[in-house]
Amino acid sequence: MRTRVTDLLGISYPIIQGGMQWVGRAELASAVSNAGGLGILTALTQPDPDALRAEIARCRAMTDKPFGVNLTILPTTSPPPYEDYLEAALDSGIRVIETAGRSPREFITRIKDAGGVIVHKCTAVRHAVSAERAGVDAISIDGFEAAGHPGEDGIGGLILFAAAAGQVRIPLIASGGIGTGQGMAAALMLGAEGINMGTRFCATQEAPIHDNIKQAMVDASERDTNLIFRPFRNTGRVLKNGVSDEVIRIERRPGGAEFEDVRSLVSGARGKAALTSGKIDDGLVWASQVMGLIEDIPSCRELIDRIVRDCRKAIDRGQAAFSG
Ligand code: NAD
Repeated sequence: MRTRVTDLLGISYPIIQGGMQWVGRAELASAVSNAGGLGILTALTQPDPDALRAEIARCRAMTDKPFGVNLTILPTTSPPPYEDYLEAALDSGIRVIETAGRSPREFITRIKDAGGVIVHKCTAVRHAVSAERAGVDAISIDGFEAAGHPGEDGIGGLILFAAAAGQVRIPLIASGGIGTGQGMAAALMLGAEGINMGTRFCATQEAPIHDNIKQAMVDASERDTNLIFRPFRNTGRVLKNGVSDEVIRIERRPGGAEFEDVRSLVSGARGKAALTSGKIDDGLVWASQVMGLIEDIPSCRELIDRIVRDCRKAIDRGQAAFSG
């Protein structure tokens, strides 16, 4: 396949792995890159910038293909040294930086000076337009189906991808709710030149999380997510489980709730422990509506090959509809 996204990122297929907290480690990123996509290491998954340097070195020992680093800036219980993480990535020779959560404006000059490429992930067309104007190289836009923090507007991918494609001139990557070749074909038809997948890559053999979590994603339907943090305007889409049900119960209490009321339930440390132990109800597990389309736990290579094959078939089927 060839699109402006494959050319920009130096990859074979325009398929990017989401920068997922606790999951974006060398095992997964290298497997995605080795299969022809772009693997992403999540900076804040590492406890400090030196640990990110070590993780980049570990990933490099596992692949000679390009991979990127995600830097997400969102409300957090203890703000990390974002600039030092960025320096660690750039010093280590990382070329592709995925920014997310907030305007990337303050980082653009530094990344460009280092010869880097910035893919900015956002959840609204107005933010995409503003990031393009600020000088990023590509936009990754998250429909409301997405896991993690899909923004406050509630616009699904079918509308959002087309609306963004109508206003953004730089390459567009569709994200949120994509996990099949049919989904990829739809995104391309709507004007995207690549896709980003998070949850779908969690249910792969190489994802560094417990098998119980992967199986939970296979077993879950598209109805099995919860939207938390809506009252705090930091909406998060997560797997429906004991913890996220409890968070919603607290948020809906008469008189409302504050973040402090849920803080101990939602901590990243607790979510990380659940991903490691496989105890599904022990913490937040971030997951998208695409769970309804996940039926197996393939290797990253099997998954990417299948998606590309099914995407081609879906496009051929669409063309056949016009050929009599
Ligand atoms: P954490 O333990 O700092 O916080 C847990 C959750 O609570 C996060 O979703 C965070 O955004 C939210 N939160 C924290 N303080 C808040 C406040 N004052 N008001 C409203 N919400 C608040 O986070 P972590 O799990 O250690 O993750 C570290 C960083 O990675 C955070 O910035 C987090 O948002 C981000 N993250 C991103 C995704 C994603 O979709 N890209 C998913 C999980 C975490």
